[in-house]
Amino acid sequence: MQPSLEKLRKFFRLEHENGYADSAVIGGLARVLDFWEGEARNDGLPEEIVQAVAATLRGYAEQTPEGRAEALKSLWKQIQEKVPEAAAASKSSAPRPRRPAPEARPSQPKTEEGEQAPGPKAAPPPRPGRAESAPGGVTSQRPIALNASLTVLSGIGPRHAQTLAKLGLHTLGDMLYYFPRRYDDYSQLKPIHRLWYGEEVTVIGTVQMATSRPVRGGASSITEAIINDGTASLRLTWFNQPWIANNIKVGDAISVSGKVDQYLGRLVMNSPDWESIETDNLHTNRIVPIYPLTANIGQKWLRKTIHQVVTYWAPKLTDHLPAETRDAASLLDLGTALVQVHYPDSQESLAQARHRLAFDEIFFLQMGVLRQKRDWQSAVGRIFDVPDEWLNERVAQLPFPLTNAQKRAVDDIVVDLGSGRPMNRLLQGDVGSGKTVVAALAAMMIIRSNAQVALMAPTSILAEQHYRNLKELMTGEAGLSESAIRLLIGDTPETGKEEIRTGLANGEIKVVIGTHALIEDPVTFANLQLVVVDEQHRFGVEQRAALRLKGTNPHLLVMTATPIPRSLALTVYGDLELSVMDEMPAGRQEIETHVLARRERERAYTLIRSQVEAGRQAFIIYPLIEESERSDMLAATAEHIRLKEEVFPGLKIGLLHGRLRPDEKEDVMRKFREKEYHILVSTTVVEVGVDIPNATVMLIEGANHFGLAQLHQLRGRVGRGSDKSFCLLIPDNEDAVENERLSAMAETNDGFILAERDLEQRGPGEFLGTRQSGYASTLRMASLTDVKLIEKARLQAQALFGRDPNLEAPENALLAEALKRFWDGGKGDVS
Ligand code: ADP
Ligand code: MG
Repeated sequence: MQPSLEKLRKFFRLEHENGYADSAVIGGLARVLDFWEGEARNDGLPEEIVQAVAATLRGYAEQTPEGRAEALKSLWKQIQEKVPEAAAASKSSAPRPRRPAPEARPSQPKTEEGEQAPGPKAAPPPRPGRAESAPGGVTSQRPIALNASLTVLSGIGPRHAQTLAKLGLHTLGDMLYYFPRRYDDYSQLKPIHRLWYGEEVTVIGTVQMATSRPVRGGASSITEAIINDGTASLRLTWFNQPWIANNIKVGDAISVSGKVDQYLGRLVMNSPDWESIETDNLHTNRIVPIYPLTANIGQKWLRKTIHQVVTYWAPKLTDHLPAETRDAASLLDLGTALVQVHYPDSQESLAQARHRLAFDEIFFLQMGVLRQKRDWQSAVGRIFDVPDEWLNERVAQLPFPLTNAQKRAVDDIVVDLGSGRPMNRLLQGDVGSGKTVVAALAAMMIIRSNAQVALMAPTSILAEQHYRNLKELMTGEAGLSESAIRLLIGDTPETGKEEIRTGLANGEIKVVIGTHALIEDPVTFANLQLVVVDEQHRFGVEQRAALRLKGTNPHLLVMTATPIPRSLALTVYGDLELSVMDEMPAGRQEIETHVLARRERERAYTLIRSQVEAGRQAFIIYPLIEESERSDMLAATAEHIRLKEEVFPGLKIGLLHGRLRPDEKEDVMRKFREKEYHILVSTTVVEVGVDIPNATVMLIEGANHFGLAQLHQLRGRVGRGSDKSFCLLIPDNEDAVENERLSAMAETNDGFILAERDLEQRGPGEFLGTRQSGYASTLRMASLTDVKLIEKARLQAQALFGRDPNLEAPENALLAEALKRFWDGGKGDVS
């Protein structure tokens, strides 16, 4: 029997035992209605029963005990006639029945477009070929085809299919996985006399009147209706929807959802959502899904369409997750999760459904990463032996002793290069920890055996800087000739490029350093054995793969200053070995950071003047290159002039931004490096990698426009020498919340802490870089900040991978397909 009826029966029995004194419930039996009606409708009890119960209980208190006894008895009899479970029941409390399936309903509701609302057609959609040929009896239920076209569903004709295609919905699977954008919770039904002004509710009542009349000389219309639920009346108003009056008939029971408003001292509802309650309360009286829409698609129509598809098809899905995994992680089955994510019974089941679907995403991601790691590890890499003696000599020639962290990273690389498998290592170290020299040593290990190295950096400024550093380190005593190390950027003249192509193809050039021009240019290598990618989060996975493909299983070293929170690293870079450099070179001082208000700007200028007098240099960063009408952000070009003319008339100030030609950029950087400029005014083009140890002030204007990770990168441009350095942040508004966020910069110099905070505040795009945030978009349910979920999915992925790495077992066949779908929709290569 339905739980609501079961409850009712208990109250009635108690009332009988108490001699019909109206004492079974505190406050009288009528109080039951406060919650009972909503529950009864949720249980799918016929509306006439709900109404009958309501009517009987409302008048209950006024009656004599004899009258009450009579009323309850005849009511229960009526219930037994209408609800078979109540008749049969009394003894067994049967499991709660599902809502009637769509096909059980007498007539399919007509939709707005006139086609029949979608439901199952007589013939089921085609089965996937794979399942058809599966050995009989392996899966008790054949999987339905998620890729079946929507037109196989009854009620979806070509016209509807076209409409749905606008939302990217082409297949049954698309539809099941078209998740609501948000939900409105109308599940708490209230009697009208207990409504409060301002609350969002659903009420149900009987229509007492409904009219429509023109206003403003016929230019608009107003539709009014009054409903009554036996406790009170509520006036409803709609503007310019005159057809509503034709669709609402006096005596009809309707449910309306919306915000309770006030008019002339009485409660009203303006433009509520409404529906006749016979039509299965899809839009009201429950937690209602709100779907993302495009023009010309109505929320109600889409909701109805998805509801029919989901309630019919989702329970028929065979779960792609093996039962073992599902049980171990205590997850809902897929069908339930899909039904609940669209039409949740409660907030709790919605949370469970989301958890299950999020688990799938992370689990798929992990399975892919594990597979890639295995593929990578089973490949053969050329062995490079690195004699200790040789290495010690190279290290001794460096201008400084290595930090312990650097030594450890170098040791890791030596082991990798001697392993016979291609190295696949992520070198992670905070800004200024000295990653470049580690990469340089790795490169020397390769060229020592006459093989080639390619190093890719995200900007030409950085590529140029690496080129200079590596040339310094590797030529001369280290043994490389000047012509064996070359720079290749987009701006390299064609004759130079031609020379580089020839030199790389015949093996005379050993080291090439460049930007993405390295992969765009048709360069070929005689024997590429090491690929280094600096600031790797600035590159897409395809770009890294493209560079790697210029050799045959070359060793790979990717470097990042972006401190990746552990949860993220394990998920996205799970196929990479990790070397963390958690130590700064000796003699560095903490960078002193302050957040200043705009009116305190003069203090910043004073600091810059005194630092310049002491022989130091400063960066001043602006969020924009040029002023724009649409924004009052300060722009570098205009400020450059103002600073030169008004603020620092005696000082030399350079200007750097992304629209300069590469040779102009290099010229500005060279002058700053050679101290011809005291101050460098710049946009964020100096964000990554730039190394000017003599610079000690970093002033960032419009600091509120940057993420913490980005600010930390910018701050990392100073404090690279042994002098005390300063970072000053000036937001361009007085927003307290923003300033609170910026103050985190003053509190810590630890990139990890800032990264964690940024991840919480701004999501993973900031870390994965713009290109790579593709990951974040394939994750529609999962949040990469949900460490618990990630750990759980990782554990299960590892367990399953251990049992059946190729997903060959018949019970994993569906999973293999689902995994393929997931990865084909995303990318093929994570490294
Ligand atoms: P990042 O890790 O940010 O790429 P860099 O490799 O650019 O850092 O190094 C930052 C600065 O620190 C450079 O000027 C470099 O010469 C210097 N440096 C690197 N390693 C050491 C060390 N062990 N001792 C002193 N200075 C070092
Ligand atoms: Mg660097």
